[in-house]
Amino acid sequence: MPGISRLQDWDFKLLERYPPMYTPTEDMCTMCTFGPCDLTDNIEGACGIDLATQQAKLFLQSCLMGASAHSAHGRHLLHHLIEKYGSDHPIDVGTSNLKTPVIQTVTGIKPQTIGDLESVMNYVEEQITTFLATLHTGQEGAAIGFESKSLHAGMIDHVAMEVSDVAQMSCYPMPRAEADTPLVDVGIGSIDTSKPVVICIGHNVAAVTYIMDYMTEHEMFDGKIETVKKINNHRPVEDYLKAQSRFKHLFQMEGGAEEITKIQAIADLNAEYYGLLQSMD
Ligand code: SF4
Repeated sequence: MPGISRLQDWDFKLLERYPPMYTPTEDMCTMCTFGPCDLTDNIEGACGIDLATQQAKLFLQSCLMGASAHSAHGRHLLHHLIEKYGSDHPIDVGTSNLKTPVIQTVTGIKPQTIGDLESVMNYVEEQITTFLATLHTGQEGAAIGFESKSLHAGMIDHVAMEVSDVAQMSCYPMPRAEADTPLVDVGIGSIDTSKPVVICIGHNVAAVTYIMDYMTEHEMFDGKIETVKKINNHRPVEDYLKAQSRFKHLFQMEGGAEEITKIQAIADLNAEYYGLLQSMD
């Protein structure tokens, strides 16, 4: 499986043909405790890095953040699905004879079961850790070294994404290589606002399947609710908002009190609509 330098010659050819362009947002580097270092006019920092290399280093950091996010998600999903369905659960992506194109191209592994995806994730995680280590001060001599690693990190990211896609497609009843898969409307216009709406942000389907299972169990489709869990300790929404710093602006800005009143009104309406309060029996 390709490691840190296997594809470097090829990367260098690509980078020579398509040189990256940087638009630095600031010339001051604060990436280690030797700094801050002013890199204006390409003056070298205390570690010997110049502005181009520092930008390439920051770019690799961004690529690794993306790759880590997808890999962490992929690993979590894989753990969960193996626990639920067993590591022998077969990979099933429909009638396609090319089941895992990215994984096979990059790693040479041809997974047959979801358990086989574990060795792919091991490879991805090893690569990410190795690349993170190269961000340590003084690890690279030239921008092109970081640029090559960024290409590799992007490739690894796609491997991790395919692990997630293939695992969830194999275990959940998702469309699989079906030519006539219907298009799904998306966006605010596709929401039926006369019904309760659950919004899930992100693309980890494991959590969503639990919501759907819960809805099926409690016959909550088409606005029909059979059972609800009552709220024992009824507290004002202000208590929940105060506990989360992302809502602190509501307690500082002009008109914040009115916003909180509106949120409380929505909560009261929902509580009444669903019969959530003990006193409403
Ligand atoms: S990484 Fe180099 S340039 Fe940046 S703060 Fe540290 S010594 Fe200075």
